[in-house]
Amino acid sequence: MKHIAILGSTGSIGTQSLDVVRHHKDLKVVALTAGKNADLLEQQAREFLPELVAIGDVCAAADLRVRLADLNIRVVSGMEGMIEAAVHPKADVVVTAIVGMIGIRPTLEAIRAGKDIALANKETLVTAGHLVMPLAKEKGVKILPVDSEHCAIFQCLQGSNHSDIHKLLITASGGPFRGKKREDLEQVTVKQALAHPNWAMGAKITIDSATLVNKGLEVMEARWLFDVDLDDIQVVVQPKSIIHSMVEYKDGAVIAQLAPPDMRMAIQYVLKYPERCDMDLPHLDFMQLKEIIFDVPDYETFRGLPMAIEAGKTGGSMPVVFNAANEWANAAFLREEIRFLDIYDCIADCMGRHTVISNPDLDTILGIEQDVYAYLSSR
Ligand code: NDP
Repeated sequence: MKHIAILGSTGSIGTQSLDVVRHHKDLKVVALTAGKNADLLEQQAREFLPELVAIGDVCAAADLRVRLADLNIRVVSGMEGMIEAAVHPKADVVVTAIVGMIGIRPTLEAIRAGKDIALANKETLVTAGHLVMPLAKEKGVKILPVDSEHCAIFQCLQGSNHSDIHKLLITASGGPFRGKKREDLEQVTVKQALAHPNWAMGAKITIDSATLVNKGLEVMEARWLFDVDLDDIQVVVQPKSIIHSMVEYKDGAVIAQLAPPDMRMAIQYVLKYPERCDMDLPHLDFMQLKEIIFDVPDYETFRGLPMAIEAGKTGGSMPVVFNAANEWANAAFLREEIRFLDIYDCIADCMGRHTVISNPDLDTILGIEQDVYAYLSSR
């Protein structure tokens, strides 16, 4: 039996993780957390009977405690509650499916407590990879990538030597605005930006996919996960999201992982690793597929990608600034307070005025996040 804590169980990755658990009798949920969605959290608690649930708000927790009074489930709240779930004594694996930098602290605490991490929350590695990866090594815990591209690379690397890698090829669908130019994007609406052609995901990552910021975050994430130079990671547009990513070895051989776009496949792989299981998901039919098209990313229109690479190459605290500015701007765009292209301007403005701090500790990272938020809110 593998015991699992899911941070962010009410979101896109969280609910799909629970779907995977439903299919496997040897996976048992011990802790679940949500931000605000008490109704769904209650429903999940009744179905999966964890020992602990945590919700963001103190009042929501009090209400949930009353609702779950007939069950033997401890209800906690806030960051302390989330950390309690992350370090739950029975948890073997913690699925980090919270969105944003709020995921850093519980992830670090889970690693400190010796839990393996099924990592979806990419913002954690982007901003604190220099803290997370050495700690994971010290504690001997596995960081298993849930993000489909990184899960694909992880699979392509099985049985190979790190020194044989020539480069990583991260695929990108190009999002809903592939082929559009800057002038076409001036007036795009939230609804248009949320219409991803291949994936149904949470709102934040869907907007990040439209700006290609997501691909930039993934490049930075890959660098930490697989210990490769940023110059050895290439982004390839593959509009149908059939090839999830590839590894090119020094002899020129390229190993790719292909599957229909369904996150449950990656989640299952990670939760059952190294075992492969059948959960009745659709398989690829190459006779129907007939061809796979590739393209180069448009770095000029979708500035999120080159800015992320620049932030990653600058290093130190710059990825924190890139990520925090994007989180602020992404949320402001979703609230319809700024336009789509303003997201890039917010990031560029914050990166331009930042003085890099090398090797920032957790308090510095979270302080920079606050400073970026305060600056953008006051502009
Ligand atoms: P969602 O927005 O769908 O879900 C986010 C989860 O985090 C929800 O459970 C939400 O709770 C919780 N949450 C949000 N804010 C807080 C907070 N302040 N405190 C505590 N909990 C909070 O996101 P996704 O599932 O799409 O993405 C999660 C992470 O996984 C992101 O980092 C994303 O980049 C990454 N990822 C997602 C993929 C996908 O297919 N969705 C693919 C690859 C990576 P509530 O519902 O109560 O608001």
